[in-house]
Amino acid sequence: MRALTVRPGVPDSAEIRDVPEPPESDGPLLVQTLAVGLCGTDAEIVRADYGEAPLGEHHLVLGHENLGRVLAAPSGSGLSEGDLVVGIVRRPDPQPCPACAAGEWDFCRNGRYTEHGIKQLHGFARERWRAQPDAVVRLEPALGDHGVLLEPTTILAKAWEQVDRATQRGAGLTPHVAVVTGAGPIGLLAALLGIQRGLEVHVLDIVEDGPKPELVKALGATYHSVPLPETGLSPDAVIECTGVASVVIDAISCTGRDGVTCLTGVSPTGRSLRLDVGSLNRTAVLENDAIVGSVNANRRHYEAGARALARADAGWLGRLVTRRLPLDKYADGLDRKPADVKVVLTVADDAAGS
Ligand code: BGC
Repeated sequence: MRALTVRPGVPDSAEIRDVPEPPESDGPLLVQTLAVGLCGTDAEIVRADYGEAPLGEHHLVLGHENLGRVLAAPSGSGLSEGDLVVGIVRRPDPQPCPACAAGEWDFCRNGRYTEHGIKQLHGFARERWRAQPDAVVRLEPALGDHGVLLEPTTILAKAWEQVDRATQRGAGLTPHVAVVTGAGPIGLLAALLGIQRGLEVHVLDIVEDGPKPELVKALGATYHSVPLPETGLSPDAVIECTGVASVVIDAISCTGRDGVTCLTGVSPTGRSLRLDVGSLNRTAVLENDAIVGSVNANRRHYEAGARALARADAGWLGRLVTRRLPLDKYADGLDRKPADVKVVLTVADDAAGS
């Protein structure tokens, strides 16, 4: 069957290759991949900045943002043929550490977790895959194609949960004003979840045209194309989605009293910035600020993400996917265009869903 693969460590080695059918040892659930979403992590893996093949193999099947349809499910699994499912990206470490043992593999303590399409497990950019039934989440059929947005949504379901936990440090703290930095897919989904929580949401990005400002306004959030200090805002919570050093520093510096900054963007390394650490520290201490990094998601976040997508306006979700390409046009998909929000590769036509 066809798969989009890379040789981790070898730049620009992405190619469509014929790979074996998934072995039964991967699990009794057989899934047909409908679509995979592309993100910055995929681009990093293709550039050989990141990514690991399964032990003993040279190639890694790419694709962690995914949507599939069950082809065969064991009885008693709660899943049936035709169900729309999303595979959970991270799997617990084999030991397992206390976090993985508690189902919180997103907080894995020993780093021996694996991730589909990223770290030691083949991804979903192949025609079929197998899994244990507890490694997938079933979606409402009405979500249809938009289910491919679940995995990125889980990242924000976790991020908002981290904001909630940090907010609970003091009695009576409730966020009212939230800032999201970056209006890419992660930023827009962060804004969607913020609006669903009833917050006043401001989204910052550098672009002045294209779909992003409109997508922000359509949510009922406010769009700003100036840096955070120039907005005059003192947010209670910031979800930082760019990983850009100056934006990260602005986010940390501009929160209001008892503010929480949740960092979700992975930055390139090796760049330096002049910074008054004393001033930053002084403000953080005197204002009880919290700065939390957040990665990945566990089953609770997949379930919360699925509920959030089901509540969202289907037309708005549809506008997030600005390009859908066949699997073999992956190179075009990875080449980001100014008007891109989310680019999705179609792996199979959804005969059961149409
Ligand atoms: C994925 C996460 C993953 C992270 C680090 C992100 O792109 O969405 O699931 O944990 O990369 O590998």
